[in-house]
Amino acid sequence: MPRTKSLATLINHYGNEREFKLKKNKISDVYKILNREIFNNRLKKPYILTRRMHGALGLFEFKKHCYRITLHNKFKNFQECVEILGHEMVHYYQKLILNQNSARHNKEFYSFKKKFKKIGLNLKRVYR
Ligand SMILES: [Zn+2]
Repeated sequence: MPRTKSLATLINHYGNEREFKLKKNKISDVYKILNREIFNNRLKKPYILTRRMHGALGLFEFKKHCYRITLHNKFKNFQECVEILGHEMVHYYQKLILNQNSARHNKEFYSFKKKFKKIGLNLKRVYR
């Protein structure tokens, strides 16, 4: 991973053609960038893990004050991986900051669409 902590640099580095296998040590940098660019650093770091998933690319869960994001271990490309992490972070924001049912793709969820677009990302309900 290049040292420059800009999303455009990273997307450029990994390209959009290649399959992206997510390794745990790469998540942190991407998480920090998204937290800064989209959520004004308001999210504290949840527990993030990767595993092979069926029927989903990402998942946000919580239990009392424990927040967890699970990501699939393989993506079409780097951008898709970033978009999925961003999507789950919106659910995290809904729960943590707005105190909402985080499973909803509602008005507040889509209010982040503009911020995503600004840094070249899509915010959608389903990605594949
Ligand atoms: Zn969702």
